[in-house]
Amino acid sequence: MKYALVQDKKSTAFKGGRGKCQCCQSEMIAHCGEFMVHHWKHKSKLECDPWWENETEWHRKWKDHFPKDWQEVIHHDQSGEKHIADIKTDQGWIIEVQHSHISHEEINSRNDFYRKIIWIIDGFRLRTDYKKFYSSLIKAKHFQVKDIIIACIDSPEESKLIRNWNRHSVPVFIDFHIDNKLWLILPTNTQDIAYVAEFKKDIFIQIANKNSAQFYNIINFLLNSIRVYHLQKSGQLKYLRVPLRTFRRGRRGPRL
Ligand SMILES: [Zn+2]
Repeated sequence: MKYALVQDKKSTAFKGGRGKCQCCQSEMIAHCGEFMVHHWKHKSKLECDPWWENETEWHRKWKDHFPKDWQEVIHHDQSGEKHIADIKTDQGWIIEVQHSHISHEEINSRNDFYRKIIWIIDGFRLRTDYKKFYSSLIKAKHFQVKDIIIACIDSPEESKLIRNWNRHSVPVFIDFHIDNKLWLILPTNTQDIAYVAEFKKDIFIQIANKNSAQFYNIINFLLNSIRVYHLQKSGQLKYLRVPLRTFRRGRRGPRL
């Protein structure tokens, strides 16, 4: 973890450091080696949060875009279950930054637990992910809404990244570590087709920092634009699987 409590203050790791875990209160030891990012580890056990993954430089860069108080925040649900959210904004949005492979069951569990969740996925983990993703984009039909281009991908199963993340009805941003670009897989409720929009990374960071509730408006605006696009194109709502109201409440969409 990036932070532990040292004399009750949230502190980063330092050589010889000893601290307390924010989540389980047990003792933490600072690891400040040459090759890995400096971090804290539990002294006597594995990580207390089963959802926790070891952090990369990429994780840290993402966290560093946000205030310290928003990073590694313990989130409780009504039953008393708790987990450490990578980032929790002042408006209650959880931003989960994910590098490793994660099962569908765990994605579902996290979506259900956090509700108002946005994922940022490391698209650079596997070289084939990048190739297949771009090949799907090239083959897609594109249309433009204001200055945002939306790709309408008829065969989402061709790209593992798109296939895996297109079925969860929550916003997913893929980061290929390229310039200022993120790719947003829009949260529709269909797996037959995927809608992917190019999104500027600095705009994402700006919105998340200043007014994260604006994500509702932007995503719903894009979803409505998709609806209009299909209405104009086919005269019917062929692909309409847009859970606008449920998304607004931060819940997964209904089965259609
Ligand atoms: Zn702990």
